[in-house]
Amino acid sequence: MMSMACARPGAKVVAPVPGFVMYKMPVKFAHVEFVGMPLNSDFTLDADALIAAIEEHAHALVYLAYPNNPTGILYGDADIERVVVAASKSLVMIDEAYQPFAEKTWLPPAAEFDNVVVMRTVSKLGLAGIRLGYMAGLPAWIMQFDKVRPPYNINVLT
Ligand SMILES: *Cc1c(COP(=O)(O)O)cnc(C)c1O
Repeated sequence: MMSMACARPGAKVVAPVPGFVMYKMPVKFAHVEFVGMPLNSDFTLDADALIAAIEEHAHALVYLAYPNNPTGILYGDADIERVVVAASKSLVMIDEAYQPFAEKTWLPPAAEFDNVVVMRTVSKLGLAGIRLGYMAGLPAWIMQFDKVRPPYNINVLT
C-alpha cells in the first residue's frame, strides 16, 4: 500500500539487502524502483551507504526491518536515527514484524519524527493466518495509505 500510494514516475524504495523478500515484490508490482543497499559483512547497517542512496534518491520510501529478516540483526539506534534525520525529504518505514522477539522498539521514538511510520503485525506471534497488522504514524501519512487500501483488506472478525 505504501509503494502503491507513492508510485509516480521516478519513485523509489530504498532498503538494505539482504532484507525482507516481500519488500521488493510489491514495489515492483507498483512500478516503483527498488534500490537495495548492501549491509556490512557482519549484517550491521551500512548507514553511510544508505544515507548516500537516500540523498541521491530524495523523496524515497525507506524500508527498515527492525529486527531485520532474514539476518535477525537489530540495527543500532544511532544508525537508524542518522538515517531518519538524513531522510528529511523521504519517509522511513520501520517494520517491527519481529519486535516480539526483540527488547527494543521504535514506536515511542518514532513519534519525535514527522518522517517515520512504524509497522507491526501479529504474524510472528503465531497468528499469521488471521492476516492482521497495523501502522502507527502521523494521520497525514496514514490518510494517504488508506486511500489505496483494497476493499476487504481485513475481515470483519479481524
Ligand atoms: C512476516 C513479516 C512481515 C509481514 O507479515 P504479514 O504476515 O504480512 O503481517 C513484514 N515484515 C517482516 C520483516 C516480516 O518478517
